[in-house]
Amino acid sequence: MQMLKFAVLPGDGIGPEVMDVALDVLKAATEPAGIALDFQSADVGGIAIDNHGAALPESTIKVCEDADAILFGSVGGPKWESLPPAEQPERAALLPIRKHFSLFANLRPGLLFKELTDASPLKTERIPDGIDIVCVRELTGGIYFGPKDTQTLDDGDVQASDTMVYKRSEIERILDVAIASARSRSGKICSVDKANVLTTSVLWRKTATEYLAANAPELELSHMYVDNAAMQMARDPNQFDVLVTENMFGDILSDEMGIVCGSLGMLSSASLGTQNNSHGHPFGLYEPSGGTAPDIAGQGIANPCAQILSAALMLRYSFGLNEIAETIEAAVKQTVKDDIRTGDIAFGKPAIGTQAMAQAIIERL
Ligand code: NAD
Repeated sequence: MQMLKFAVLPGDGIGPEVMDVALDVLKAATEPAGIALDFQSADVGGIAIDNHGAALPESTIKVCEDADAILFGSVGGPKWESLPPAEQPERAALLPIRKHFSLFANLRPGLLFKELTDASPLKTERIPDGIDIVCVRELTGGIYFGPKDTQTLDDGDVQASDTMVYKRSEIERILDVAIASARSRSGKICSVDKANVLTTSVLWRKTATEYLAANAPELELSHMYVDNAAMQMARDPNQFDVLVTENMFGDILSDEMGIVCGSLGMLSSASLGTQNNSHGHPFGLYEPSGGTAPDIAGQGIANPCAQILSAALMLRYSFGLNEIAETIEAAVKQTVKDDIRTGDIAFGKPAIGTQAMAQAIIERL
């Protein structure tokens, strides 16, 4: 029997609620194919601060190191907001885990089903068939990780700086992820930069042009300045297919894409590492795009779809089980199409809870 060994880090707020049912869906989808789940759970985020004194304890890192992938919930909440910024769950857990596992590529599907166009702030006539794009964001370089400094100047003024740094090799490896994604889709890549102002962007654009010409000449590559890309995302998101960009631009653009695609409860994401796992696929961390939703946590009403779709991405990228991933995605789509909805995507239709939503998805697998 094939075994899938992964770490489960539910985190805080709605994390444990949506994780529980996502595991039920995963089990129901893999069992008929003779595949067993071998997962180990560990604390991360606020609950890890409470139980172990650190947002990312050594014991949790060990559980992840022993696994082939990480299924992550979300971290943070009001209880830990008074901690110093560097100790807060998001900063003290998410950034270090990305760094520790060299998770350099973040893929976010910007997927809005036709049945849910009401969830988007865009007018339905702009997105009559919903939205289907992908944002590929570089995750371990750029201004978030470059040298930082704060100093008091001779005249008493205070100056702070963050430095944006990129190597050609870092740009090439994220382009590889975008190329793979574009090859499985329409073959179009839009590389987003600010090459009219930033030196790193000049290198980014040159590298993208040369690398694609040498390695994927069949793909259609375009370039766009980030300010224009932000406008185009709000005007006509479907003009994009695969977007590829550096860390900070991707942070902002992928959040914009998230809101354009409607409920956070539907949006999954994958962060892929440089190392292959024991299945010969990239080690990765898979998580919903939203946070811990403290306003609805504990009520059993959170939308589990983002967590379930993140589990599907794990099957696809870290275990090479594309067919089962597609089965899960189709079941989620059919459930929504059948007007079975949690509150965040109900729009006047009757709303059901987290567990009932997951059960409906399992029935449609
Ligand atoms: P949030 O994403 O938690 O919530 C924003 C809104 O979206 C809320 O109204 C919430 O109810 C709704 N929402 C989100 N996911 C939902 C779901 N699955 N089903 C139904 N509705 C859903 O963002 P926030 O309120 O800004 O942050 C809350 C906490 O989460 C903060 O502590 C923040 O630091 C943390 N956070 C963590 C991550 C992460 O772990 N990756 C990401 C973002 C925010």
